[in-house]
Amino acid sequence: EARTPLSVFDQMESEVRSYCRSFPVVFTRASGHTIWDRSGKAYIDFFAGAGALNYGHNDPAIKRKLIDYLAKDGLTHSLDMATEAKEALLKAFEEKILKPRGLSYKVMFPGPTGTNSVEAALKLARKATGRETVMSFTNGFHGMTIGSLSVTGNRMKRRGAGMPLTHTLALPYDQYMGSELDTTLYIERLLEDDGSGVSLPAAMILETVQGEGGIHVASIPWLQKIEGICRKHDILLIVDDVQMGCGRTGTFFSFEEAGIQPDIVCLSKSIGGYGLPLALTLIKPELDLWLPGEHNGTFRGNNLAFVAATESLRYWENDQLCRTVLEKGSIVRTRLEKLQREYPYLQGKVRGRGLMQGLAVGVDGLAEKICAEAFERGLILETSGPKSEVMKVMPPLTITEEALLAGLDILEASIKACKEEEKQ
Ligand code: PMP
Repeated sequence: EARTPLSVFDQMESEVRSYCRSFPVVFTRASGHTIWDRSGKAYIDFFAGAGALNYGHNDPAIKRKLIDYLAKDGLTHSLDMATEAKEALLKAFEEKILKPRGLSYKVMFPGPTGTNSVEAALKLARKATGRETVMSFTNGFHGMTIGSLSVTGNRMKRRGAGMPLTHTLALPYDQYMGSELDTTLYIERLLEDDGSGVSLPAAMILETVQGEGGIHVASIPWLQKIEGICRKHDILLIVDDVQMGCGRTGTFFSFEEAGIQPDIVCLSKSIGGYGLPLALTLIKPELDLWLPGEHNGTFRGNNLAFVAATESLRYWENDQLCRTVLEKGSIVRTRLEKLQREYPYLQGKVRGRGLMQGLAVGVDGLAEKICAEAFERGLILETSGPKSEVMKVMPPLTITEEALLAGLDILEASIKACKEEEKQ
């Protein structure tokens, strides 16, 4: 029996459970872009571990490296001690990622997960500037700990912290609420006008594409203007590339195309290569103001994640992955646009970049209903946005074209089935 009702999960796990409600089966194994449940049913993965599995499940080359490492009794846990596995990752990151892009960052290991990277960035920005607040953007998502949640633009998530969080000002993101207005004009005035009463922040933190917030895409000129505003007022620019980094948009960093150079970059999810917990905070060398031991934590030395991450960087030795991401992204985009045209009942809008594409649905609850139908038919995809209104297509970057098309066919069939139901 694959399903879970009234199981040990319901009896023992807290009500806070979320994904297991959308995908109510017990999963057993996975390979590439496919996941199997306990009954043996296969699902095409358009979810990719919320962005942690850009290279797919159980990549064979990474798996071999991990098995070899374990067979030799390599250290698994080492706090922030120097190990060969960490040395190999730092070297590969410098050679394959930073150097070819002309980027100069020091690497900090802030803790195992995305929110740890954001917390370190917020702390460092305050320490470096002596300013208190960090400005963030409407619909931004940066994590669930108190600091990262205080820069997250989602009321429901913020309520999870009980009392109101120390307020950081939420600035309007590009095309906020579908507006054509240039929101950078407002932001500039707010910072320059004494009458606004707004103090200059230590930093601004943003995603170039808002993954959780509804797949809102910042335009290149908007990003460049935001960078200009930051430079003008000595505000540090933090790009949170936890979800969009590691190739999701077709380049390793999501900001490469815009030509901006953030002061701090947050990476996690797919940097772990194999779904293993790892986070990096990249900081401009002149910002390395930490005193030894000033930011520590027990799980900053996951050597299995270092081994997996190092091997995953082989995908970046040439531009093949980037090219296929753009090709597959455009297949998805074209199909979503077709669905938008052919199913007006959706009141759909297509948004996205690279292999992060979404179809925003204008009818309350409908996106979730279609995703549930798709799950029954063997496709895992999730919704995003404040009202779960966007169907989010985010497969592993390594998905085959055949599986991509099969998944899109399931999505189309699900949209059609839900339309038939609406009519009745
Ligand atoms: N930043 C972004 C952009 C994210 O998408 C997420 C996770 N969805 C986080 C931060 C937080 O990462 P984690 O869940 O690993 O703490």
